[in-house]
Amino acid sequence: MNSKSLRLLREWFKKNAASLPWRPSNLDAPRDPYAVWISETMLQQTQVSTVRDYFIKWMKRFPDVATLAKASEEEVFKYWQGLGYYSRARNILKTAKIVAGNISQKFPENRKDLEALPGIGAYTAGAILSLAYHQREAILDGNLVRIFSRLYALEFLPTDSKEAAETYWNYAREIADSSKAYMHNEALMELGRTVCKVRNPECGSCPLLASCRAARENRTAEFPPAKKHVQKDWHGTVLVIESMDHKILAVHGGQKFFKNQFTLPHFESPRNATAGLPAQAEKYVDADAVQSVEIAGKFRHGITVHKMECDVLYVKLRTKAPKRERADSRWVERSRATEFFASSFCLKALEQALS
Ligand code: SF4
Repeated sequence: MNSKSLRLLREWFKKNAASLPWRPSNLDAPRDPYAVWISETMLQQTQVSTVRDYFIKWMKRFPDVATLAKASEEEVFKYWQGLGYYSRARNILKTAKIVAGNISQKFPENRKDLEALPGIGAYTAGAILSLAYHQREAILDGNLVRIFSRLYALEFLPTDSKEAAETYWNYAREIADSSKAYMHNEALMELGRTVCKVRNPECGSCPLLASCRAARENRTAEFPPAKKHVQKDWHGTVLVIESMDHKILAVHGGQKFFKNQFTLPHFESPRNATAGLPAQAEKYVDADAVQSVEIAGKFRHGITVHKMECDVLYVKLRTKAPKRERADSRWVERSRATEFFASSFCLKALEQALS
């Protein structure tokens, strides 16, 4: 992108930047890396309009990394509830503890150390380094991908191959190779959100119109190209195991899906569950402790490319939950189960088994 386009982009941003709780009115002011980290993590997969209130409440309760590091996982989840992707909240807490444990209690100021922190990838690291530390660091999110794809008529996505990803990152680095990288990055994100939208981009109000190949060729609807999804069918069984004292078993790790969070035990199985305790369930409960096994129902669900169909088995135990818990499992009060299990996959199974 030439210097004239970048100047037009900055001018457009200064006139059109929305007022957001994580954005200071002085767009040239360096930001608090903690606030950048929280807002950018919340904004991954979630609309700005939704994040706004969550961010305000969060910053009121956890104004800095030291306060957050002392919070319990339950409380962090409470403030995250509704934003989805709970692994993000869990990683936020892990990272807060690491950063608060540093002598300086400061976020690292280089990409390598930032990306070593849980939940911080190339995008968030670039956002912290450019927006908070004003470094010449690139970012690449869905908005920038869409804009680059249209500006240069790129008929591939960064996810297609290593070379494709590198092409997009090179365009992102080009606009970040400036003392105003922070503004170019944020202006492009805003432009993607408000003007170069997924459907019906408003090219007439775009500061980059003169340099946009897709607009010039009247082909904006062709970019970015559609993702090629190969859907895979997956059939499985989900276990809702309840102890005599009304606690539900949650497991961590060793599962097909949700590897990094507590979930209900599940495994691949043939269609149509049969009554009785499946052999795979004996990994979690002693068969002698089982009072009854019921087929509670079934549900459909989609995760990434998987089109799932799951049977739900409700397993009632005649014994109480063990007092000493293992690191890879937890017994959750039945009354708190819908709050504890974050994924809609678990919520669908719980609804079938407990309603
Ligand atoms: S001219 Fe249109 S398609 Fe091109 S970057 Fe601007 S809004 Fe997007």
